[in-house]
Amino acid sequence: MVQLISRFEKVMVSPELQGTPLGQRVEWLFPKEVISWQLPQLKSSAQLGELSADQYSKSKRTLCILPFPGNFFKRCPGFKKGLACCNYYVLNLGLQCPMDCSYCYLQSYHNTPTTTLYSNIDSAIDELHTMFNENPLSQLRIGTGETMDSLALDSISLHNARLMEFFFDHPKWYLEFKTKTNYVDHLLDLPHRRNVIFSWSLNPQEVIDHEEHLTASLQERLNSARLCADRGFPVAFYLDPLIWHENWKDHYRQLIEQVTTTFEPHEVVQLAMGALRIQPEQRHLMRERFGMESYVTSSELLPCVTGKLRYDSHLRKELYHFVLSEFKARCSGWTISLCMETIQAWKQNYHEMPARIPELRPFFQPSQPAHR
Ligand code: SF4
Repeated sequence: MVQLISRFEKVMVSPELQGTPLGQRVEWLFPKEVISWQLPQLKSSAQLGELSADQYSKSKRTLCILPFPGNFFKRCPGFKKGLACCNYYVLNLGLQCPMDCSYCYLQSYHNTPTTTLYSNIDSAIDELHTMFNENPLSQLRIGTGETMDSLALDSISLHNARLMEFFFDHPKWYLEFKTKTNYVDHLLDLPHRRNVIFSWSLNPQEVIDHEEHLTASLQERLNSARLCADRGFPVAFYLDPLIWHENWKDHYRQLIEQVTTTFEPHEVVQLAMGALRIQPEQRHLMRERFGMESYVTSSELLPCVTGKLRYDSHLRKELYHFVLSEFKARCSGWTISLCMETIQAWKQNYHEMPARIPELRPFFQPSQPAHR
């Protein structure tokens, strides 16, 4: 895959980071002429308004590194009325992504003209300590891939090694890195207690080529996952978003064949699938940026109960049924849950709510700590 950080044309760093290990690392990684030790004038979201298609694309090539003054820790957006939530928490260490998937939901709300990487990992870890001290018996899963890819910028920040230290000392909590990169090498030899999950969103290479620009190939993702599993890390796969296109059955069948010949069910702690969904607000930006050739911009999507646009329920059912039966045909040990789906979709496809399905129950039980 391409070296993502080499795509930044400008790197603006908070002046207080000059001389710190992170500041020195920036100087080591980037040519002098692209670094500025001044931050842009920060505007409120109301002042910023929406980004044009060009401004949005440019925000992926301009990096801003600064401390984050707010809370890092929050509950996953799946925790909403009308959705079956898998009890997940997120820790956001930045905003925006140097890769460029046509369906990326960041297009629905990202309105700053830069990619932002937060420098103050110590504050994030302090928050984790506070949360743990308030709820010492809790068993949380915490992911860092909601507002950015978990690994795309880690070669700059090295934040993940710090997070892994915390999770090594807190073995009942799970940390999940969600990525579409193959940037795992620097983490493979770090100590862990099998509570650091490396997870990949997977799609057939046809869909990757068409819709997931600048991401790792399917084979690179699977190779990286194999490396992680061989070092004892749990791995997870999300066939998400499932995207309808011509010959989709052949392409997804081939993908499932690759997954099931590379992994045994017991090596994959979570396998989930979710059909394409987007926020209505992102549609015009997507069409401007990717045209109507994209499988996503050209598809018919209808509003559902949560306000998102999705395929109609018959097509979703067909997609889910196909994926589920292809996995089960290869080995009955594969268990697949739905990702960010409505309660109706669970009932339609599984005839049960997830908390009542024994093998999925652990992921859907209410967690003990209160949401902050
Ligand atoms: S990898 Fe994830 S965050 Fe990055 S562009 Fe794709 S969907 Fe968005």
